[in-house]
Amino acid sequence: MHVRVVDRLSAPTAASRAIGVHGRSMDMFDRIGIADELIATGIKTIAFQMYAGHKPLFRVPLGGVDAAFPFMLSDRRGRAFLARLGEQ
Ligand SMILES: Cc1cc2nc3c(=O)[nH]c(=O)nc-3n(C[C@H](O)[C@H](O)[C@H](O)COP(=O)(O)OP(=O)(O)OC[C@H]3O[C@@H](n4cnc5c(N)ncnc54)[C@H](O)[C@@H]3O)c2cc1C
Repeated sequence: MHVRVVDRLSAPTAASRAIGVHGRSMDMFDRIGIADELIATGIKTIAFQMYAGHKPLFRVPLGGVDAAFPFMLSDRRGRAFLARLGEQ
């Protein structure tokens, strides 16, 4: 199937809009059979720890949810993998 992407921008934005791939997105990637390959490129983030300077503020655990992928996958190599996939 050929897909044509029409966008007012001529190139991807340089502004960061993602630090990671969330579990629900992983569900979609699993459906098309690329979840394991993507996981192999990244780091499983199981919690966020927020600080003000060196003072810990609060922690957001991601691992306690009832989901197939209870983590956020973070790593720039994952982005490169998805970009390559989009070019195919
Ligand atoms: C600071 C920030 C951090 C984020 N971090 C994460 C994260 O870690 N993980 C995560 O999963 N999500 C994250 N998100 C959310 C994620 O970026 C969005 O959910 C996602 O980009 C939405 O995708 P989209 O294709 O619907 O919209 P967009 O990515 O906004 O794409 C819309 C596109 O439409 C184009 N467009 C707009 N109007 C027109 C027009 N009239 N004609 C032609 N083209 C047009 C725009 O140029 C743009 O390229 C973050 C968002 C922000 C702002």
